[in-house]
Amino acid sequence: MRWRKTHTGEPLTVSVSYLSKARMLDSGYHGSLSWSRRGVRIGSVGYSCSGDALQLTYTVTDTITRQQAKQCQSIQLSRSACHFGGSRSWFVCPRVGCGRRVASLYSVGGLFFCRHCHQLGYESQQVVQCDRHTLKADKIRDKLKWDAGILNGTGLKPKGMHWRTYWRLYAEHQRIVGGVFAAINKRFKLGLDDPLRFDP
Ligand SMILES: [Zn+2]
Repeated sequence: MRWRKTHTGEPLTVSVSYLSKARMLDSGYHGSLSWSRRGVRIGSVGYSCSGDALQLTYTVTDTITRQQAKQCQSIQLSRSACHFGGSRSWFVCPRVGCGRRVASLYSVGGLFFCRHCHQLGYESQQVVQCDRHTLKADKIRDKLKWDAGILNGTGLKPKGMHWRTYWRLYAEHQRIVGGVFAAINKRFKLGLDDPLRFDP
């Protein structure tokens, strides 16, 4: 089952200071949270606060069967004393193995986690994508009798292969390599326009 709330894939953000100002961290508060961009609603969740934790309720649509189901995510709150009295609230990131105390949580078409967790997810996804492409490139390299590994550059036409086949495989190889380098590039330039990267 895939989690999906936004059509655009844009991240939804919940900030603890917003909830605090709106008095939504008061025990017993319930209502909903919704997000819009340029006047179009891109996501909404049911919301309630028990004082120590938030409950977010989603409608999840299975991408294959289109069946809808209600799901719930619970987010613990943590409070720290302020220097000049009073207290400040934090979210405890609900991802198993994380538990960081953070001021904002993000959802990219799924559950709400801290930006560190999303960043990890993003990077491993990029690695998997790169791996898949280099594997594809290596298959072509094998046909061309070139050494495996895109960093070994291009080679000559193997004996007995038609020039047309050679150029077709050559072009396909170069297209894949271009994609891998673009993905790597994107990874290192992350932070310029990635909304998950700003500090809350
Ligand atoms: Zn986290």
